[in-house]
Amino acid sequence: MLSRINGTTELFGIIGHPVKHSLSPQMHNACINALKLNSVFIPFDVKPEKLGDAITGIRALNIKGVNVTIPHKSAVIAYLDRLDQSAVLAGAVNVIKNENGFLTGYNSDGDGLLKSLHDDLSFVADGSKIVMLGAGGAASGALPALCRAGASELLIVNRSVEKAEQLSAFMMQHYPETAIKAVSYNEDITSCLAGADLLLNTTSLGMNAESFDCIDLALLPKNGVVYDMIYAPPITPLLAEASRLGLRHANGLGMLAAQGELAFKIWNGIMPPPALMKSAISENN
Ligand code: NAP
Repeated sequence: MLSRINGTTELFGIIGHPVKHSLSPQMHNACINALKLNSVFIPFDVKPEKLGDAITGIRALNIKGVNVTIPHKSAVIAYLDRLDQSAVLAGAVNVIKNENGFLTGYNSDGDGLLKSLHDDLSFVADGSKIVMLGAGGAASGALPALCRAGASELLIVNRSVEKAEQLSAFMMQHYPETAIKAVSYNEDITSCLAGADLLLNTTSLGMNAESFDCIDLALLPKNGVVYDMIYAPPITPLLAEASRLGLRHANGLGMLAAQGELAFKIWNGIMPPPALMKSAISENN
């Protein structure tokens, strides 16, 4: 790749803090190399107080596109010129496209989730009943996509129930055809779990081997599926329990790859080679 860098090389990257564990450079550079594009994707560690400077730098240096990750996904909105509808409803941006200094923000996380649910679990959201754990940034990105794809019932379970209520009220304004409810872990959700087609974890619980004491996966129907957005570690206690019970399950690696593929398409106008992003990051995860 380095041998191809010259006066016309285009620059892409990811901004976050910290960013050193990001798998996006591996995914994107694998596709850039496979397609022999004259571009390069690099990580930029941007502290929250430097976010405005970093966005000015994107314009000044004519960086063609960046991914945005924690903790900038919402804060970055204030610095952009336009938001795609995907970002408006998610209230967060994970892709910025730079067209001659005019910056548009997109959210490809939700569609990335849908693609991974389909490809990894053959799950289709249309008409489905979903129990979603969490009401943070990942949940905000997932919800509009799940509603748009036709989910019929969505129960948001969150530790801070007021955050779940806010999210559900906002989504119901846009997707009145999906029955959305918000509860805390203290409420009895037995009947919801028993009727759920999908149990979706959008929280960070499980990254350090924690488990959900109040969620009994044995209540799920036999054909119910479990998806955990966490991909490091690859098997969280939630997924280990799903496996023990014989439930189909997947971690968030497929979502990570799929949101990257959609970002690549937004920037380059073409989809990258199928499955290359996922294989580029699966080797070490
Ligand atoms: P966030 O905005 O900080 O939200 C964190 C969520 O986790 C909140 O709902 C929070 O509940 C909940 N939570 C945290 N600690 C908890 C605990 N001890 N008990 C119960 N709930 C707890 O973070 P995020 O951006 O949504 O990210 C969440 C996870 O999704 C991360 O692991 C991230 O890596 C993953 N993710 C994966 C992908 C992918 O492509 N696979 C994409 C995005 C995110 P409260 O509201 O009560 O605090």
